[in-house]
Amino acid sequence: MDDVVFSCVCCGALLNLDPSNVYPADTYFEAGNKGTISFTAIDDTKFRQERDKRIFPFFETIDHWGIQRDRIKLLCISCGKLVGYIYKDGPAITDNPTGQYGFGPSQVVPRLPRYRLKIKALHQSRAGAAAQQGK
Ligand SMILES: [Zn+2]
Repeated sequence: MDDVVFSCVCCGALLNLDPSNVYPADTYFEAGNKGTISFTAIDDTKFRQERDKRIFPFFETIDHWGIQRDRIKLLCISCGKLVGYIYKDGPAITDNPTGQYGFGPSQVVPRLPRYRLKIKALHQSRAGAAAQQGK
């Protein structure tokens, strides 16, 4: 999908998502990846970020931002449509494979951010044919 151009399905704004920033298809995420595409990076100028208010109980330390209790909403900056979330369950950026207090690999912190965008919220078109609607 090297030449795919992503835009907001709602207002058509180009989101400047780089297909080369997509996580490999076999990357494992605790929070799942169903119906979504996960990016390693996004263009901050194309999205508005909003703290998700949902709080889930979590048994770890105050410094551990669990994936369920701290996710950030990504809204289209043009129309405000919710297009995805930022999770902190990307690959670990530490060489301690057993994680905090030895709870296991899924508890390793810190982690790289994961920009998880809903496929349904994205309009995908071929580069060079962006004006052409549909597939
Ligand atoms: Zn939009």
